[in-house]
Amino acid sequence: MDRLKARLASRNANKARELERLLAGWTIELLEADEYPPEEGETYYENARGKARFGRTVAEPDAWVLGEDSGLEVAGLGGGPGLQSARSGGDDPVSWLLDELAGMEGDRRRARYVCELVGVSPAREEVRGTGRLEGRIADESRGSEGFGFDPIFVPDGEQQTVAELGNNWKAQHSHRARAARAFLRALGKPG
Ligand code: IMP
Repeated sequence: MDRLKARLASRNANKARELERLLAGWTIELLEADEYPPEEGETYYENARGKARFGRTVAEPDAWVLGEDSGLEVAGLGGGPGLQSARSGGDDPVSWLLDELAGMEGDRRRARYVCELVGVSPAREEVRGTGRLEGRIADESRGSEGFGFDPIFVPDGEQQTVAELGNNWKAQHSHRARAARAFLRALGKPG
């Protein structure tokens, strides 16, 4: 089968790398856009869809466009940083979150990653996949793989952080892996 070509409407090369591995047979490149419209949705889905629909106006007509929005929700922060995940913590989001949770124990450290993936085809059909990963925030940073909050996120059933479990583990179990499988199911091609 021909490899399906897609543009990811994002500046985050980590997401493109993970998605290319998850969507077997697809070639995924970052969209080249000077300015993205602001993320103003009230849900990850609205933001993912907004990115994909914006990308559709810019990308080459024969490519799919993917929009992805994801975030981390922490019980002790009332579900934050959530939609603000990419804009929280400046250069060092890991230290920021550990500081925010200082003195919090038990259920207040419960957390979940959420990922919404929306594809818009060349014919403008929309396909959606959602994924979640439940876990808790560790007391200190451990591991070197993944990105973002991975060095302090310990999935349920595991002792290690996602950054220690590594990229192979992420490709099977992460919120993005689950969203990608749901997306492929919605497309009628189980992954
Ligand atoms: P977005 O680019 O607006 O979707 O923001 C995503 C943000 O959520 C990232 O910048 C990270 O802070 C966080 N995040 C989402 N997925 C992951 C992941 O797989 N690992 C670590 N952090 C993630």
